[in-house]
Amino acid sequence: MNPKTAIQMVDLQKQYAHIKPEVDAAIQRVIDESAFINGGEVKLFAAALAQFLEVKHLIPCANGTDALQIAMMALDMPQGAEIIVPTFNYVAAVEVIAFLGFKPVFIDANPSTFNLDVSQIEEKITKQTKAIVAVHLFGQCADMDALMAIALKHNLWVIEDNAQAIGAQYTSHAGKTQFAGTIGHIGTTSFFPSKNLGCMGDGGAIYTSDDRLAEKMQMIANHGQKKKYQYEIVGINSRLDTLQASILRVKLNNLKTYIKNRQQAAAFYDQQLNGNAWFEIPPIAKNSTHVYHQYTLHCRTASFRTELQQALAQAQIPSMIYYPSPLHLQNAYTNFGYQKGQFPIAEMLCEKVLSLPMHTELDNEQLNYICNTIKEKTL
Ligand SMILES: *Cc1c(COP(=O)(O)O)cnc(C)c1O
Repeated sequence: MNPKTAIQMVDLQKQYAHIKPEVDAAIQRVIDESAFINGGEVKLFAAALAQFLEVKHLIPCANGTDALQIAMMALDMPQGAEIIVPTFNYVAAVEVIAFLGFKPVFIDANPSTFNLDVSQIEEKITKQTKAIVAVHLFGQCADMDALMAIALKHNLWVIEDNAQAIGAQYTSHAGKTQFAGTIGHIGTTSFFPSKNLGCMGDGGAIYTSDDRLAEKMQMIANHGQKKKYQYEIVGINSRLDTLQASILRVKLNNLKTYIKNRQQAAAFYDQQLNGNAWFEIPPIAKNSTHVYHQYTLHCRTASFRTELQQALAQAQIPSMIYYPSPLHLQNAYTNFGYQKGQFPIAEMLCEKVLSLPMHTELDNEQLNYICNTIKEKTL
């Protein structure tokens, strides 16, 4: 029988119920002040998140896609520059690369982490290569030691797309532990409502410890101006609303608990679903903690995935396919000349992955119900 409360992929209503007084008060404060753009809450939130991530500069912006755009605009790359990016990924980085007149150079996925296969980067580097976008997919870090070594050797920029792994930590071979997004030159993130640190609309941020890049990105996010009405470079208009910043301040205070809740739900799934012949539970990357933006099964066959998704749907359990098609095969990017078969791991994963409900509010009754439904299907 389905548990009393409906199971959702992400339960934002239940999460809000726990912080309602603080969130409502924060929103009311902003309305009372009516400084809706660049109000005090924006600076306070930026400072608090910078402190949390142990990074020197953090610039809030309108969303995670803008964050990537601002980062790439700040790096002075020539038209046609080649940027290395995973094909098993959300579209944002590739969209920005194409939009800015650069060329996406795709890298296949590592099946044992779902992240980009760093061992394939070096063979793709040419004189035109200027940057690597390291995406920390589903909540754990890409292989940053190896990636940073390649970047250093070939003098490439590293942008970390940290929209899915805020709060994850990476420990280098040298024993240095850093937050995801603070290892490369620039980190970007999204506060889309379903992200691990989400607001109640759109939001994003860019962060770096490089003073010059920080100043430049601050200008780009604000029409390219240093002083009001003095435009130094071509910029865009990308701001985090004061209302969203005030909500994010409340949520940031709970981020450690949110991460712990997700990890506990993942541990429950792991324990119940491990050793199943029909799928593998999510792989764990070396040297990284996992903050479980997604809990993603790797099914043995495409047809089993379809059957499992149907069985879950019948039991009123949502599940999602992240991602149903790799980016190199999307119509928008055919002009870059990629073919089916070029990135076999990503193509295979798109046919076999299935993400289960994962959020901060899953209780044991719900988790039991989900796991039992899956186990019945695989008996
Ligand atoms: C969500 C997401 C983004 C974009 O964020 P928006 O705020 O929706 O623009 C970028 N990259 C990845 C990996 C994401 O998951």
